Amino acid sequence: MFEKILIANRGEIALRIHRACREMGIQTVAVHSTADADAMHVRLADESVCIGPPSPTESYLNVPAILSAATIAGADAIHPGVGFLAENANFAEMVEEHGFTFIGPSAEHMRLMGDKITAKRTAVDLNIPVVPGSDGSVDDEDEALRIAKEIGYPVLIKASAGGGGRGMKVSRGPNDLGESLRLCRTEAKASFGDDTVYMEKYLATPRHIEIQVMGDSHGDVVHFGERDCSLQRRHQKILEEAPSPALNATSRNRIGETVTSALKTMGYRGAGTIEFLYENSKFYFIEMNTRLQVEHSVSEMISGIDLVREQIRIANGAPLAFTQSDIVLSGHAIECRINAENPETFTPSPGKVTDYHAPGGFGVRVDSALYSGSAVPPYYDSLVSKLIVHGANRNECLMRLRRALDEYVIGGIETTIPLHQRLMHEQDFINGNYDIHWLEAYLGLNN
Ligand code: ADP
Repeated sequence: MFEKILIANRGEIALRIHRACREMGIQTVAVHSTADADAMHVRLADESVCIGPPSPTESYLNVPAILSAATIAGADAIHPGVGFLAENANFAEMVEEHGFTFIGPSAEHMRLMGDKITAKRTAVDLNIPVVPGSDGSVDDEDEALRIAKEIGYPVLIKASAGGGGRGMKVSRGPNDLGESLRLCRTEAKASFGDDTVYMEKYLATPRHIEIQVMGDSHGDVVHFGERDCSLQRRHQKILEEAPSPALNATSRNRIGETVTSALKTMGYRGAGTIEFLYENSKFYFIEMNTRLQVEHSVSEMISGIDLVREQIRIANGAPLAFTQSDIVLSGHAIECRINAENPETFTPSPGKVTDYHAPGGFGVRVDSALYSGSAVPPYYDSLVSKLIVHGANRNECLMRLRRALDEYVIGGIETTIPLHQRLMHEQDFINGNYDIHWLEAYLGLNN
């Protein structure tokens, strides 16, 4: 087994990985920017290396600094966490070239799924159903008009290099199609340095349902059921739950089998998530994330399996520790993403945390790097905590979550806790009756 792992990330996810390493008897090396010198992930790690100033491009995305830190510390492997370099195939390759193990899939599979057009083609080749749309990129307005007429309005123009909910434009008819195409192109170029776009049917009432998978280097792949991530604002997830209120055992097993058999054909290794839209009992592939996801913890709570530990074991060449039939999903779990933002305007709220009290008790898990006196710097993602609750069933889970949210104190900064508290009393949410547009309608936002 590895003796020392460098964690190339920050915040709650860096802490999450540190905890798995510590339980496995593996030493950890934290990296940090000057803004994070007193951060929890730095304090708890066995060693830490400052890799640059606050700006992410100069620190957490600074590949030479991270590789030098790994060399100086004598690490065996690098875990990229979530975000930053986690889906950067060039980084994965460089890590291996420098003699470290990259804890993640092969660079080849990251490339295949990194670009959304290629990912959709791969999904079609693997017999995974996809959202109807263009076969590849859409290059001009005439082509866009022709395809939109074929699939029917509304349509969604999407950046092939897109991510984080950005680079998508809806067109409701031929009159605004040209404008949507131009806007999407410009935004894609500015955000991702690539203006390639494609087109999909814009689904009216889908849920976002994703399947968590894990493959080993011996050809085996298993799934951990689904997560329902339909509560979204600006295409970004706010709350996730498992199992989905919309699926039954038959539909779960069927999509799980489709996905695992496709990934076995690919020879996929590591953790991954296949994301679908689900409407009228049909699944439509939208993308695959070749990494751990923020909401992985929901699947951990219902399966009892530590996915980060499995990632590390697999990266070290071990076979999966269980077969599909060993994975028993039990009860219900919900995760609230708590962001340092105003709960009504969603304006970021960085600053110093003056008071901190995390909820606890039966079935409650808090993944957060906050502590009383800690800084929430303005340079990074606003996610500061994940409150994850498990119950024997959805109702028990909701009651426990209400109680846990009421206990949670984060002083000195604004957070989205009050939004979650409100949601817990909304009848549609309580009934599990929501799709990807529900939250924005509830918040009075237009698309
Ligand atoms: P990103 O990589 O930016 O997260 P995704 O392709 O995963 O982009 O889509 C993010 C979200 O955008 C989805 O969960 C869904 O809410 C919305 N979305 C994506 N494609 C469609 C579509 N064809 N119809 C309706 N909504 C969509």
